[in-house]
Amino acid sequence: MFAAIQKFVTYSTSKNFHRFFTHHQRNMSTVKGGKKLFTLSPGISLTTKQAMLRDINTRDEEFTDAIKFIRRKLLDIAGASPDKYTSVLMQGSGTFAIEAVLSTTIPRKAGKILVLENGSYGRLTDMIRILAVDHTLIEFPNDRPIDVNRVEECLKNDVFTNVYMVHCEPGSGVFNSISEVGALIKKYNPDASFFVDAICTFGAVPMDLQESNVHFMVGPTNKCIESVPGFAYVIAQKDRLLNCKGIARSSCLDLVAEYEKLEKSNQFRFTPPTHSILAFKQALIEHETEGGVAARGQRYKTNCEVLRAGMRKMGFKELVNDADNRFIITPYLHPKHPNFNFQEFYGRLNDKDQVIYSGKVASSFSIGTMGHIFQDDIEYLLKCIEDVCNDMGIPLPLSD
Ligand SMILES: *Cc1c(COP(=O)(O)O)cnc(C)c1O
Repeated sequence: MFAAIQKFVTYSTSKNFHRFFTHHQRNMSTVKGGKKLFTLSPGISLTTKQAMLRDINTRDEEFTDAIKFIRRKLLDIAGASPDKYTSVLMQGSGTFAIEAVLSTTIPRKAGKILVLENGSYGRLTDMIRILAVDHTLIEFPNDRPIDVNRVEECLKNDVFTNVYMVHCEPGSGVFNSISEVGALIKKYNPDASFFVDAICTFGAVPMDLQESNVHFMVGPTNKCIESVPGFAYVIAQKDRLLNCKGIARSSCLDLVAEYEKLEKSNQFRFTPPTHSILAFKQALIEHETEGGVAARGQRYKTNCEVLRAGMRKMGFKELVNDADNRFIITPYLHPKHPNFNFQEFYGRLNDKDQVIYSGKVASSFSIGTMGHIFQDDIEYLLKCIEDVCNDMGIPLPLSD
């Protein structure tokens, strides 16, 4: 008996036990019928999901405290000083918050936005057309970072009130240089407000808003923060935000009005996504416990390295030839073997509870390495991909 206890004590303090335990805990995040998502809206820890399994009154102090906690913690993660910046929560998904920034911050008189696009597939242009604002669009190839020389040319030769750029476009997964573009704006158009879509990167890729001259940033609750959808948020430089009072082209998406209400009472103007707020608070605590942006980014990097090495070994070719500037999501070309059919490949992986992303670029699919996934999940996915190729009669390694 004693020997058995001693054995267990030895085992329970060993690395193997730790691996077993954390693996077991993580597996519990997959309930029956649950899937591992290697997509753009990836999996969430069980504890974050559990945090939302209760009702809470929106007037309850616990709830308004949660909102306060979230608003402050977002600034911490963004490296933004609360003296200069604020965060505004907005119902809806990330795109709603993007539209809120656009409709709130472009001056009605002589407003003109420079849109730097590398593969957002018209998301911005649609909004700008509907909002009917003056704009210049520069389109860049979607398989490499935005070319700052072209941005410089444009900023030198025209006057803008706003500039929009995405930090990482999931179609390619490559990162754009926020700080370089921010510095150019400061140099040539210092009055212009710089707006960054960080929906794909916030929480895992370091960003210093102040140093990069960013005035408005949108982030999500899902993706790298690993919580449930339901709202999004804008981190805004306070002066710039308050300058926008009264110019919104939308009532629901008026960021200044939302900010004023939050400041006054830690309440949303309209029904808040209560359960999502509870989950998000828990997700932020887990983000900090893991070690913040650096640790989360490191986990995703490891995931991505393991994925890329394994896929390379099987002969899969990446869509984007860019060595290291990526770890959120990796797009792959469809293999050329005649037996390959994406629907079947996807379906067979799905039957094994492994969900990949169909890819935004033709003849490609993507595999996300963010979300509540770990190295052993990637290793298991690779094993499943190998099995599925075998089952489809596609010899590995691929020959083209
Ligand atoms: C996912 C994503 C979006 C869209 O966000 P929704 O939450 O679907 O509205 C926008 N921009 C980027 C960079 C994204 O990764």
